[in-house]
Amino acid sequence: AKEYGRNGFQCYTPDMGQRASEVLPMEVAIRAALSNHELELYFQPKVDARTHTIVSAEALLRWSRPGFGLLSPGAFIPFAEERANLMRAIDTYVLRKACMHLARWRKAGVPVTSIALNLSASQFARAGMIAELDELLLEFGLDGSLLTLEVTEGVLLAEGGVAADNMLALRRMGVQVSIDDFGTGFSSLSYLHRFPVDELKIDRSFVSKIGRTGKDAALVKAIIGLGRDLSLRVVAEGVETTEQAEYLTSSGCDVLQGYLFYLPMSEEQFLEMLGAQAFA
Ligand code: C2E
Ligand code: CA
Ligand code: CA
Ligand code: CA
Repeated sequence: AKEYGRNGFQCYTPDMGQRASEVLPMEVAIRAALSNHELELYFQPKVDARTHTIVSAEALLRWSRPGFGLLSPGAFIPFAEERANLMRAIDTYVLRKACMHLARWRKAGVPVTSIALNLSASQFARAGMIAELDELLLEFGLDGSLLTLEVTEGVLLAEGGVAADNMLALRRMGVQVSIDDFGTGFSSLSYLHRFPVDELKIDRSFVSKIGRTGKDAALVKAIIGLGRDLSLRVVAEGVETTEQAEYLTSSGCDVLQGYLFYLPMSEEQFLEMLGAQAFA
C-alpha cells in the first residue's frame, strides 16, 4: 500500500492496510463478487497413489475479477480472514457452489466420489455451521459423504468447544474431515485421536523436501506412519516430481495431489478429465 503524505512525501506505515479508504473498496469488491458470482470453484484432482486414477478433487476458489484477470485465493482470502462476517459469507458461498456442482454431476451420472472443500477455522468453530450445512445438503438432495472438509490444525486446539461438537456432528452426517497443511501447525499428536478426523494432508513444504536430505524424508515417513497407525487416510499435497510420488507411495501414502498429476482446472476441464479416464 502506498500513499502520498500531506507534504508530498511517499510514506509507508504498517497500519495502512487498515485504513478505511483502502479497506472499504476491497470489502465492497468481494461482496459484489459474491453477488455477481465472479467467484468460482476450480478443481484439482486427487489420485490414488498406486493406480493414479482420480479418486476425488479439491475445490479451490478463483476470482475472475473484471480488469484483474483470474485471482488466486492468496489475493483476497487473507484479507477476508481478518473480517469474520466476510469470511463467513465466502465460506457459505463456497459450500453452496460445491453442492450445486455435486448435484449437477450426480444428475449427469458423473462418477465423482467426493469433493474436498477448504473451510476457514473460524467457520469450523461457529455454532450454526452444522445446521446450515445440513439444510444445504437437504436442499440439493445430497449425502454428507460426498463432502470432505479440509481444515487447518488450529481447529484441533479448541478442545471441548464448538469445533469439537461440530466435528462429532459432521461424523454423524457422514461428512469427512481432513487436517490440511498437516505438520505446519501447533497441534501435538495427542490432539489427533481425540477428534473424529478421517484424513491427514501432508503439507507441501514437507513434500518439496523429499530427495534433498535424509532428515526431511524421515519426517515425511513419520507423518505417514502416524496417519496409518491412527487408521487415517494420508494425502500428500504439492507433489511435483516422480521421485516425490514414488517415495510417498512406497512409504504408504494413500492419495497424491499436485502439479505432477493435475493443475487446478475449471469444472468443464475437470469433467473432461473424468470422461477421458472413464474411457481409457
Ligand atoms: P491449500 O488448501 O493448502 O491448497 C493448496 C494450494 O497449493 C492451492 O493453491 C493449489 O493450487 C496449490 N498447489 C496444488 N498443487 C501444487 C503443486 O504441485 N505445487 C505447488 N507449488 N502448488 C500446488 P491456491 O488455489 O492458490 O489456494 C491457496 C490457499 O487458499 C489454499 O491452500 C487454501 O488455504 C485457501 N483456499 C483456497 N480455496 C479456498 C476456499 O474455497 N475457502 C477458503 N476458506 N480457503 C480457500
Ligand atoms: Ca486444502
Ligand atoms: Ca493444504
Ligand atoms: Ca499447504
